[in-house]
Amino acid sequence: MTIDEALRRYPLPRLESRLLLMQATGFAPAKLVGYPELELTVEQEAAYRGLAERRLAGEPIAYLLGEREFYGRPFRVSPAVLIPRPETEHLVEAALARIGRRPARVVDLGCGSGAIAVTLALEAPEWQVSAVDVSEAALVVARANAVQLAAPVTFYQGSWYAPLPKTAVFDLIVSNPPYIAAADHHLEQGDVRFEPRLALTDEDDGLSCLREIAAGAPDRLLPGGWLMVEHGYDQGGAVRALFRAAGLAEVETLSDLAGLDRVTLGRKAG
Ligand code: GLN
Repeated sequence: MTIDEALRRYPLPRLESRLLLMQATGFAPAKLVGYPELELTVEQEAAYRGLAERRLAGEPIAYLLGEREFYGRPFRVSPAVLIPRPETEHLVEAALARIGRRPARVVDLGCGSGAIAVTLALEAPEWQVSAVDVSEAALVVARANAVQLAAPVTFYQGSWYAPLPKTAVFDLIVSNPPYIAAADHHLEQGDVRFEPRLALTDEDDGLSCLREIAAGAPDRLLPGGWLMVEHGYDQGGAVRALFRAAGLAEVETLSDLAGLDRVTLGRKAG
């Protein structure tokens, strides 16, 4: 099988065929374009077939490539972590805009691949960034990303605030927690089917993790400190209510590029 034949072999979008063939062969993009008649080795062909068949069965392209870009940087991903989403870049931007480039103590609760924590540590070198996840397998991925991208992040394994040092307080708490309700049919569709259920749903009404994070924030925020969370498009009102119930002020919801409620923030009185 030649490069050109391989790229036409499976009913996949051309871009996906190219990415999977590069992954299987290690060839650079220019080689695929410049040498369409080049014969693949038996091993290359088998590796490519394996990836193409998994893609045809629905596996996310990010897991097959082992990588997804977030905020302009490549992050390792595996089925142990949620695939970073472009919407989540709004959370990063809100954090950078509200805190600014001053020394700050920051924690990311439920860090998954580490996309948010690593990005913040690199975009705001003055910040001291910690990250928490309950999943040891996710932390393996997050630590690898921090090392790969040379981001100084301190990791803790456990549930939300529990593993943090007892006296640790922060200028900023960020989180993209599992917020899909257990009954949401979205969980049975597309890429999401292959992502860790633990990272997607609270197995409840979608608000239980957001509730726990909001309720615990005042004890962990410095005066004037911010809590910022990502949530579902229909959860803005409910999350603002949780923030207010926790005593936070300046509560506000920001929309994503699609104009949907996506990030809510609030502040401990200073
Ligand atoms: N935004 C993701 C989705 O809709 C969900 C991420 C999350 O639950 N934190 O697939």
